[in-house]
Amino acid sequence: MNGRELINILDFGIGALYFLQQGQHYMNHEVPDMVPQFGAVYDFVVIGAGTAGATIAARLSEIHQVEVLLIEAGSKENFLMDIPLLVYMLQLSDDINWKYQTKSSNKYCLGMEGNRCNWPRGKVMGGSSVLNYMIASRGGAEDYDRWAKMGNEGWAYKDVLKYFKKLETIDIPELQSDTIYHGTKGPLHISYPLFHTSLAKAFLNAGKELGYPLVDYNGKNIIGFSYVQATIVNGTRMSSNRAYLHPARNRRNLHVTRESRVKKVLINRHTNRAIGVEFIKHHQIIRVFASKEIILCAGAIGSPQLLMLSGIGPAKHLNELGINVVRDLPVGENLMDHVAFGGLTWTVDDPVSIRLTDIINPTYPYMKDFLMRQSGPITVPGACEALAFIDTKNSTKLHGLPNIELLFIGGELKGDIILPIILGFNNAIRQIWNKYIITYGWTILPMLLKPKSRGWIRLLANDINVKPEIVPNYFDNPEDVKTMMDGIKAAISVGQTKAMKLFGSQLTNDTFPGCENYEYDSYDYWECAMRTASLSIYHYSGTCKMGPKEDPTAVVDPRLKVLLKDALESTCFFQIYNKY
Ligand SMILES: Cc1cc2nc3c(=O)[nH]c(=O)nc-3n(C[C@H](O)[C@H](O)[C@H](O)COP(=O)(O)OP(=O)(O)OC[C@H]3O[C@@H](n4cnc5c(N)ncnc54)[C@H](O)[C@@H]3O)c2cc1C
Repeated sequence: MNGRELINILDFGIGALYFLQQGQHYMNHEVPDMVPQFGAVYDFVVIGAGTAGATIAARLSEIHQVEVLLIEAGSKENFLMDIPLLVYMLQLSDDINWKYQTKSSNKYCLGMEGNRCNWPRGKVMGGSSVLNYMIASRGGAEDYDRWAKMGNEGWAYKDVLKYFKKLETIDIPELQSDTIYHGTKGPLHISYPLFHTSLAKAFLNAGKELGYPLVDYNGKNIIGFSYVQATIVNGTRMSSNRAYLHPARNRRNLHVTRESRVKKVLINRHTNRAIGVEFIKHHQIIRVFASKEIILCAGAIGSPQLLMLSGIGPAKHLNELGINVVRDLPVGENLMDHVAFGGLTWTVDDPVSIRLTDIINPTYPYMKDFLMRQSGPITVPGACEALAFIDTKNSTKLHGLPNIELLFIGGELKGDIILPIILGFNNAIRQIWNKYIITYGWTILPMLLKPKSRGWIRLLANDINVKPEIVPNYFDNPEDVKTMMDGIKAAISVGQTKAMKLFGSQLTNDTFPGCENYEYDSYDYWECAMRTASLSIYHYSGTCKMGPKEDPTAVVDPRLKVLLKDALESTCFFQIYNKY
């Protein structure tokens, strides 16, 4: 060991102590836990302290006169969850990840153990905003305008823009003056990662070489290339818990009960109103009531599950499980996700990429850089450094909506020592990829932005402890196959640019097991490959669809109230983009 390496190890030790001290300070910011009394009445009861629930509860509690109860199944967030590079490791924990899996299929997720894709979801204060990759992306203005045209008043981009601005403090200096699109006083900080590999810079140059502009994809035009904008402050994650609940910790009207699993929403059958919830905390059943509203924010899997267990859902399905039907609504239908193809890694000649085995080696400077100063590659969210939004149907069109996102990772998916396991890839594939553990490289995940395929979520039992059946139906619609094919070709063309070739980029071209009968690089080969290495990008949505009363596929109205003739006072929040 040379002198420099020894100093790195010593600095690592000092940095670890400093970081632990900071962590203690951070833990003191959590809203304290309490046990509600059986029968207690609050004005608002919010179910789920995730991205939506933490925000709603904190905002409501700004009104001193109302009492708000926030119920969360998971436990405290801690500072170890906020280390950007290690984001995917969080999925290993049973404590903070619901660990859902899709139903086994013979059409997609074929390269995963049991032909099932892993569907992680946060079970912790902050919900999935604690497990997510922190990429802040609003979606295109035209999407919101289309929702408004479909009868969803208040959802046009001009209407939602003020909330996007209100929630953020944009920490990207060159965007701070753009007050049309950005806010500088909101609780949620958004920044570029503090570190970029030379490969990420090359990726942006590749974009220019291909005729794309560099854009602020949360600004006027979305199509183009950019570093990722991330919900990161001072090199660490900013979850909704940290952004909204920590500052509200001293409010006396905000009550939080953690490790509390809601079993069902209580509905008065005479008035047709949601009046309370039943939950279980430390083996004890507790009922609480709401004088104003129950706000359901359990996410795109938890919300439909709870609605169905409470009698709101497809009548036939509920009858089969012996659940009394309160309202026949298409809850759990219309499931969609941003599916990606996880098989495009390039190797490069020199050690210029982010490689986990280097990062965690204490003789290298990376750990101490993060622990002492929150700088260096550990501040990059899951090594996702940059992205491109493109329209493969018309590559010269630089306005309007994209149909593919290319997510650039400054490291090798195939060569990572842990990521393929976390993603669920089977043994046969991981063995083929083992040879990349010693190489350096980069990856593009082409991702479908407007999937036409729709899946569903259904109950498997009248029991909150039984995970629901999840059928994403990836690539069910042949147009999705075609668009993904175009996305793959677009990613390959990035690898062929001068900017990427400068590094000696070589596309790894191992044939996927099961696809041997197709000629490599043919249409049929790539179709087989995408059905094998289908990756969820974790944007499950659409299962409590919003729409006007006349829409037979809608579950909630444009004010997000469950569509019951007599206006059931409950609300279903879920991810707001790509609802259709
Ligand atoms: C691994 C991963 C990476 C992602 N990356 C990104 C990204 O980079 N950018 C991006 O924009 N989006 C990303 N997403 C998606 C994004 O995080 C979610 O869309 C968003 O967090 C959803 O917010 P939500 O409030 O609807 O649900 P959640 O944040 O999941 O919150 C739901 C909460 O409800 C609780 N809950 C559920 N059921 C019950 C019950 N019965 N009783 C009590 N509590 C309950 C859960 O524990 C959870 O805390 C990612 C998601 C994941 C999982």
